[in-house]
This record gives sequence, C-alpha cells and structure tokens, in this order.
Amino acid sequence: MALMTGDDYRRSLNDGREVYIDGEKVKNVAEHPSFKPIVDVRARMYDLNHMAEYKDQLTTTLEDGELICRAYKTPKTKEDLSGIRKYVETVLDDLGGVVYRVGDETIGEMWSLFDAQDKLNEIDPTYAKNIAYHIDRVAREDLFHVSANTDPKGDRSKLFSGKEGGTLLHVVEENDRGIVVKGAKFETAAAYAHQAFVKPTILDWGAGEESMAPFACGFIADMGSPGLKHICRTSLGTNRNEKDYPISTKFEEIDTLLIFDNVLIPWENVLFHRSLESAAYIRSTLHRYSAFNYVLRILRRADYLLGTALLNVEQTGLTKLQAVKEKISELINYREGINAHLTAAVANAEVSAGGLMMPNQSLLYTGRVFALSNFPAMAHLTRELVGGQLAVTPDSDTMVDPAISKYIDRYYSVSEWNADERAKLLYFARDLLNSSYAGHRTTFELFAQSPPFAQQMAVFNNFDPEAQREMVRKAADLKSGQTITN
Ligand SMILES: Cc1cc2nc3c(=O)[nH]c(=O)nc-3n(C[C@H](O)[C@H](O)[C@H](O)COP(=O)(O)OP(=O)(O)OC[C@H]3O[C@@H](n4cnc5c(N)ncnc54)[C@H](O)[C@@H]3O)c2cc1C
Repeated sequence: MALMTGDDYRRSLNDGREVYIDGEKVKNVAEHPSFKPIVDVRARMYDLNHMAEYKDQLTTTLEDGELICRAYKTPKTKEDLSGIRKYVETVLDDLGGVVYRVGDETIGEMWSLFDAQDKLNEIDPTYAKNIAYHIDRVAREDLFHVSANTDPKGDRSKLFSGKEGGTLLHVVEENDRGIVVKGAKFETAAAYAHQAFVKPTILDWGAGEESMAPFACGFIADMGSPGLKHICRTSLGTNRNEKDYPISTKFEEIDTLLIFDNVLIPWENVLFHRSLESAAYIRSTLHRYSAFNYVLRILRRADYLLGTALLNVEQTGLTKLQAVKEKISELINYREGINAHLTAAVANAEVSAGGLMMPNQSLLYTGRVFALSNFPAMAHLTRELVGGQLAVTPDSDTMVDPAISKYIDRYYSVSEWNADERAKLLYFARDLLNSSYAGHRTTFELFAQSPPFAQQMAVFNNFDPEAQREMVRKAADLKSGQTITN
C-alpha cells in the first residue's frame, strides 16, 4: 500500500499471465523485446513519483494522508483538474514523447461510474460500494488500470436489433463466488497493465431487450486472471535502429485481443450486471473525465508537429518566405485551438451528479473533435513543410560509411547544421509522420476513445442548444418550437 517503484511494477507483471506475440508465448513480459521499451516507460513513470523534484507535480495525498499518484485522485475542484494537466505535462516532458494508455487516461472511466452511485444503489447497493472501493484501491495500490470496451463484433447488422448479442462478451454463469464471463475485447496495454474496467461496447442499449441482459455487465478484470489470454499484435518498434526510429523504438504501445475464456470475476469486482440501464449510462458518460487526459496528448502531438516543421524550415532558410510563415501559423492556430479548449474546459468546469469536478463537457468534447479531425491535415502540412527528404534520406548506418560520408557531408549539411544533426531531425520527422508506427498512431487516435461518429454524438448530447433556439424564436417572432429537446 504505497507508491510502486519501477522495479515493483516490473515484478508485478510476473503473475502467470498468458501472453502471446509473434507466434510465441511470452515468459517474462518485462524483459521481452516487444514489451520492454514500453514497460520501461511505465516503470520510469513509477520511479518519477519518488523523485523529490517532482513531488508536488506528480503526487498528492488522500484525506487520511496516504501518498498517491496525483493522476489517481478524484477531482473535486478546478485545482484538481489543473493538477491533472500538470501531471500529464510533467510526465510527457520527462519522457520526451507521447504515450496515451499508461493509466491516468483510463482511470476517469471509473469516475464516470462513480457519478452514477444513486442509480447503482437503486439496482444493487453492493455495486455502488464496489466502484468506490476500486477507485480507492487503484490509488492506494498504485495500479496500472486500463480500459476494455470494444468487442470484435462480427456481423454489425445483427446487433442493431437490440435482441441479439452474438459473440459479445457476456455472463455464462453466476455462482457464490462471482460471475463467469466469456467473450473478447480489444485493449491497448492490457499485456503490461494490472487490471481493466471491462464494460459493454457501443450499442443502442436504451433500446435493448431482456435477451441482452447477460451482455450488460461491467467489472474489474485482473490481467493475470486464469482463463484470460492476451493475444498481441506485432510491435512496430522491435528490431529497429533507435537512431532511425527514435519514437517507435521507445513509445510503441502494444494492442491486445483479450480473450475471456470462462473467466471468474469475483463479486467484489462486479460493478453492474444484467443492467441495460447501467450499460446505456456508462456508454453515454464514459469519457467525461478521460477525454481531458486524451486531448492533452493530442496537444503534445501538435507541439511535436509544430516544432518539427519549424526547425526544418528554419534550418533550410524557408522562414524568410511569407507563404511558409502562413503555414506555420496554421499549425500554431491548431495547437492553440486545442490549448484553448482544454484551458476553458477547466475554467468552466462543472460539478457532476456524484459531486466530482468534471471538465466542461461541451468544451471538452468539441475540443476532442477539433483536435482529432484536424490532426491528419496538420500532419500533412508538417510533411509538406519538411519536404521530400523526409522520405528519401538514407538510414544512419549508410550515412556513416567512410566510403560515402564526404558526399553525405556535402549534401546534408545546411548552415550550422551538420549532416548528422540534419539526419536526426529527418528521422524524427519520419517516425512522427511516415513510419508504420506513425500510421498506427493515427488510427489509434481515430478510434481509441471511440470512433468519430460516437465522438460527434458526445458533442451533440453535451451541448444545450436552448439559448440558440430562443434567440431565433425571439428574432423571428416564432410561437412554435417550444417543446423540442435533444
Ligand atoms: C489502435 C487501436 C487501439 C484500440 N484500443 C482500444 C482499447 O484500448 N480499448 C477498447 O475498448 N477498444 C480499443 N480499440 C477499439 C476501438 O474502440 C474500436 O475500433 C472502435 O470503437 C470502433 O469499433 P470497430 O472497430 O468495431 O468498428 P465498427 O463498429 O465496425 O465501425 C466501423 C465504422 O462504421 C461506421 N459505423 C459503425 N456503427 C455506426 C453507427 N452506429 N453510426 C454511424 N456510423 C457507424 C463508422 O464509420 C465506424 O467508424 C482500439 C482500436 C484501435 C484501432
């Protein structure tokens, strides 16, 4: 019951979990070449919490004085939300890169369920007790908590009826120890995390029928549970040269297909069960806190786009051109647009039904859509400003070959930038924009906090348009349109 160290975390992964990658069953996740870089990043985050210089930014205390990671404290004031922002920024500054699924971004999904305590109490008071217990436990035991929402859904059209759950994760048995579940979920970071909040996928749960009840369950799953199998996709950073791929060799977050093969979930880990209402509730509120941490990462990605474009046009003398300055301004507008949404979401934060402090929901969700929908265009603009050398530059081993180095020096040195420095910037730009890892990141950002249509629904459902209706009613002297609601 204390802050973990990096080594505590590495050891904790050796819990008998069943992990598969590249046709191999993994013996030791922390030491396996596909997982080691990202486990080292997460371990570094644990170690940072023990460093005196980071104490204020990265840690805080519970009411009884227990020292915890700041990211795990339920926000009750605007200062708490600013503290979360400071936490994310400090960690990313230290790491020198962007990682998303490292615990702070996913913890907020439990806070969303905490907000529904009254509803859970109506269904079964033990569920409200369980969610409060797990929020406290993650903080006190410093657990790496992730999120499992999406099943491999099969034929989507069959799911629309609200009668047929197909292969979606569901309860197959209830006994005195708990529920037994069967199904599968996609889950980034599961293989090197401690636990996940498993919950129903996106469906019209409000229209769901009684036959869907076994599918309407939410629980905490221990990532080392017997019967749980982690089937991981190939790492895009393994066996790459660190100099040529400075981002993917350090920050590759591995996605897992998690198979629940009749996994027993003890009653104390069950957060709701046979509750279509709870399924509908959690789907509509899931990201009310966690989108903040998510968009903070996109802000950092925008910073890297801007910095990369700027250093490149400065080194090649292109900043003298008005047209190039305008393109840099577009990147600045983008960066500051995200920053404005995040800043205003805290300044205009709202108290939730459960008494927590939520970032302003409309500003947060519109900020998420703004950041994600503009990212591809901003990446493309950066690609354009870096120029074709991004794609044609030889790799570092070739560049240092004595037989050709004089040519490299002649054609790659620019003003005070020698060839090595110039190549380093180009390799960084390639890994940010063009590598397999970069492509994967773009897809991750598109989907990892629900697909674009669901993000637009969050915008629609969290903006109160009554003021706009009233303005038009008044300006156009209308008597109709009084009863429309979202
Ligand atoms: C890299 C990566 C990491 C991921 N990590 C996680 C994770 O950690 N945890 C997790 O739970 N999930 C994770 N996911 C899964 C992700 O949440 C899903 O991909 C996403 O929810 C979309 O589901 P789907 O892939 O089944 O697409 P589908 O449901 O098949 O949808 C595909 C497309 O069809 C259209 N569509 C489908 N339904 C509708 C509708 N009702 N209205 C309008 N259009 C619709 C949309 O264009 C949608 O994008 C990850 C995905 C990726 C790519």
